[in-house]
Amino acid sequence: MMMTGIGRLGLALAFSVLAMAPSASQSQEPRPEEARLRAEVKTLASPAFAGRSGEGGRKTAQHLVEAFRALKLEPLFDGQYTQPIPDNEPGRILGQNVGARIVGSDPKLRDEWIVLAAHFDHLGVREGRLYPGADDNASGVAMMLEVARAIAQSPEASKRSLMFIGFDLEEIGLYGSRYFVEHSPVPLKQISLFITADMIGRSLGGVCDPYVFVMGSEHAPGLRPWIDQAAKERPLKVGMLGTDLLVLDRSDYGPFRAREIPYLFFSTGENPTYHTPDDRPETLNYPKLEAISQVIHKLVLQAASAPTMPTWIQAPENTIGEVATVRDILRSLLENQEMFKIGVAQLYLLNNTVRTLDAIVERGSITSTERATMVNVARLVLITIL
Ligand SMILES: [Zn+2]
Repeated sequence: MMMTGIGRLGLALAFSVLAMAPSASQSQEPRPEEARLRAEVKTLASPAFAGRSGEGGRKTAQHLVEAFRALKLEPLFDGQYTQPIPDNEPGRILGQNVGARIVGSDPKLRDEWIVLAAHFDHLGVREGRLYPGADDNASGVAMMLEVARAIAQSPEASKRSLMFIGFDLEEIGLYGSRYFVEHSPVPLKQISLFITADMIGRSLGGVCDPYVFVMGSEHAPGLRPWIDQAAKERPLKVGMLGTDLLVLDRSDYGPFRAREIPYLFFSTGENPTYHTPDDRPETLNYPKLEAISQVIHKLVLQAASAPTMPTWIQAPENTIGEVATVRDILRSLLENQEMFKIGVAQLYLLNNTVRTLDAIVERGSITSTERATMVNVARLVLITIL
């Protein structure tokens, strides 16, 4: 290129940059970021937080209070960020939930609440060994804080009201979330949607890499197009599963489900480091954690301003997509059968089930008997293989 051309080219570039400015700033709409998620997981899993139990639990609660305060979010509980959970013994405190809120901008919709929660407690230090709980559930807490930050820093106002909550004492039996639903700062019928995430930084069995699982849409199928939309063009497979594939209430969605509040439970599933001292920050897949956090962020934004909310249906409505997801999981286990030490009888069952599920997916519909069998096999696999 000739020297004399530079002046004009420079001017043209300057104009095109100006012309692009509005769309460039739109694409920089705040959203969950990998580097921040990574830093938060590292902090929460560090020895300073002592596995987030006892003194470490109190320290984590304080850390969340400071995070909410720094974002200038309002306290959720009567002017306080913390909700103490009393022991049976009078005057003694077992732990504390931590919550913040954004009151909606729409005079009609602001009485409807969207809740985003993650449990922050873990197993502490046992026999001198730190349980860092990076996946369980520093990953979920980091997501919750990043979604809260992105929304707090967005110029776009939310029409509905939002709550961000860190639940305590999940590991000892969902104490924090149980206490919350019995002492909610708003009437429970005003909670339109509860979203929680527990362990979203790895993959089921360490072998189902692209998958994040979402449970709960079977009771509010109207949420499914929102999930699909939020997950579009992300490096993820979102597998929507019926909650009954899990044997017990495995996380804080339990008390909300019992009260028929529409809920979504995100998890990448158990992996070999589950509840061991090896659940460390360096074992997490941060691009995946970012992608999941961005899906949940989108979903919260959608719920925050949609004209109407999907409602609870009593009889679960499952999809054929669920069958394909279960088949993919079983196939991944079969591909790694030596690692999981799958025995001859289990091998026979798994191969048979995969073949049956293939035929069902092909057919495009599943009978209730077939689904009951699939659920039994899936539960058996969760208990005996993973
Ligand atoms: Zn756990």
